[in-house]
Amino acid sequence: MPAINGRQMKERIRNLNSTIWFDGQTITGDITAHPAFKGVIGSKARLYDFQLEEENLELMTYRSASTGDRVGRSFHPPVKKEDLELRRLAAQEWAKLTGGMMGRTPDYMNTALMALSASAEVFKGKNKLGLNIQSIYENAREKDLTLSHTYVTPQVNRSLGYFEDKEKPIAARVVKESSEGIYIKGARLLATQGGITDELLVLPAGGKLIEDDYVHAFSIPSSAENLKFVCRESFVYSESHFDHPLGSRFEEMDTMVIFDNTFVPWERVFLYKDIGAAMSLFSETNFNTFLYHQALSRQLTKSQLFLGTAQLISETIGIDEYQHVKEKISEIICGIEMMKGLLLSSEMQAQQNQAGLMVPDENPLMVASVMYPKLYPRFVEILQLLGASGIVTIPTINDFNSDVRKDLDHYLQGADTAAKERVQFFRLAWDMCSSAFAGRETIYERFFFGDPARLSVGLYNHYNKKPSADLVASLLKG
Ligand SMILES: Cc1cc2nc3c(=O)[nH]c(=O)nc-3n(C[C@H](O)[C@H](O)[C@H](O)COP(=O)(O)OP(=O)(O)OC[C@H]3O[C@@H](n4cnc5c(N)ncnc54)[C@H](O)[C@@H]3O)c2cc1C
Repeated sequence: MPAINGRQMKERIRNLNSTIWFDGQTITGDITAHPAFKGVIGSKARLYDFQLEEENLELMTYRSASTGDRVGRSFHPPVKKEDLELRRLAAQEWAKLTGGMMGRTPDYMNTALMALSASAEVFKGKNKLGLNIQSIYENAREKDLTLSHTYVTPQVNRSLGYFEDKEKPIAARVVKESSEGIYIKGARLLATQGGITDELLVLPAGGKLIEDDYVHAFSIPSSAENLKFVCRESFVYSESHFDHPLGSRFEEMDTMVIFDNTFVPWERVFLYKDIGAAMSLFSETNFNTFLYHQALSRQLTKSQLFLGTAQLISETIGIDEYQHVKEKISEIICGIEMMKGLLLSSEMQAQQNQAGLMVPDENPLMVASVMYPKLYPRFVEILQLLGASGIVTIPTINDFNSDVRKDLDHYLQGADTAAKERVQFFRLAWDMCSSAFAGRETIYERFFFGDPARLSVGLYNHYNKKPSADLVASLLKG
C-alpha cells in the first residue's frame, strides 16, 4: 500500500494494540476515540488526507523507484538542491495544518529513515547489520508507516562519574542474544507519540557509547511484546476547539518507553555492539542535518503563527500605536527572518555526501538549533507581555452559551471585535503562551533536538574558526 489517507492511518493505529499506560491504567478499546489521543490522531489523519488531495499530490508525494506508486515526499532522497526546496515546502504545508505545533509529524522520522538508509554502506559495520536499515526504510516508505523514536537514557544521574549496576539495568541495554535476535531490558526517554505510531525507532544513546551493551539501533512495531509506553498527564482538557484551540487538536503526548526483555529480531537491528559503526552513524550519515532541515521548516511556520497572533493582539486591544509594542513584534520578525536566512543558506550551500545525497549545509542548521531554543521562549513571553490580562480573561464556550453572555458581549468586546471572537482569539494566544499545552511546547522547542547547552558546544567544536583567526593574523602583519 503506497501513500495512505487519514482513514487508513486511523484504521492501522486502531488495530495496533500497543501497551500504553495512561493515568494508572492500560488503554483498551479504540485508541482513536480516547480523549487523550483522539485529537492528535485526528490531526495526523488530516495530514494524510491532505497529501492525497489532487492539488497536493505533486508536492506531497513522488513516485517510488521500486514500485512506481506515489509515496510520501519526506521519504524522497534528495540529490539536487531543488529536491531540498521541495522537502521544505512539503514540510511547511503540513506545518501550516498544525500551526507547527506538532513537532513529530510523520515527515520527521521518515526523513531520518531516508538519510540513514541512503548511507547504510557507511555505517554497516563489521557485522553488516547497518544494511538492515534499507529494508526498514523501504517497508516504511511503501506502507507509509509512522514512527516515533527514542535515544535518551532515563534522567537518573547525569554526573560524569555515574555508572549503572549491570544487574539492575535502568538505561535500556542488551541483556541476551540468540540466533534469532537480541533482548533489551531497561527504559528510554522520551518518545513523543510513543505507542500511537506503527513503529518505534531506537537509536543509540549519546553518552552511553563507551559500553557496547548500549550500542544498538533497531525499529520494532509499537505493539511488540514486552514493550510498554508510560504517558505523562494529558493536556487535552476538553474536545472544544473554542476552549482549547491547540490542546484539543495537537497534544502529541510524550512517553517513557520500557523494554522488559523485549525481543528484537536480527532483521530489525541495524547497529549492534559496534562503536565505530555508531560513530559513523552519527557523523557520516547526515541524518541529524536532514532532521533539523525538516524541524526548521516547521519552526518557521510556527513562528509565523506567533507573529500573526502578536499583531492581532495589538490590533484587538488597540495597542499597535505604541513604540514598545512595535519593538516587541519586530523582535519576532527578526527571529523569523534570521531563521529563514539560515534555512535558505543551508540549502544554497548544500553539497553531496558520499552516499550521493544533497545535504543542506550543517553550519546554519546547527546555529538555528542553538538559536531557536532562545527565540521561542521569547516569542512566548512577548505574547504574555502584549496580551497581559487578556491572556487569562478567557471565559469558556459554555459561558457564551449561558445567561451571562450579554455581560460578556459588553465587557469583553475588543477595539473593533465582538466579544466572542475576541475571547476565541485570546484563548488561542493563551494556548500558545500560558496553558499546560503551551508550557509543554516551550520545553519541547528547548529540548527536542537535544540539550541546547551541549548543542552550542557541538557548534563551537565543529565550526571552522581558522579563517577568522587567519584574518586577525593577517591584519596584525599589516
Ligand atoms: C517535550 C519533549 C519531547 C521530546 N521528544 C523526544 C522524542 O520524541 N524522542 C527522543 O528521543 N527524545 C525526546 N525528547 C528528549 C530530548 O531529546 C531530551 O530532553 C534532550 O536530549 C535533553 O536530555 P534530558 O532531557 O535527559 O536532559 P539532561 O541531559 O538530563 O539535562 C538536564 C540539565 O543538565 C545539564 N546536563 C546534563 N548532562 C550534562 C553534561 N554531560 N554536560 C553538561 N550539562 C549537562 C543540561 O545542560 C540540562 O541543563 C523530548 C524532550 C521533551 C522535553
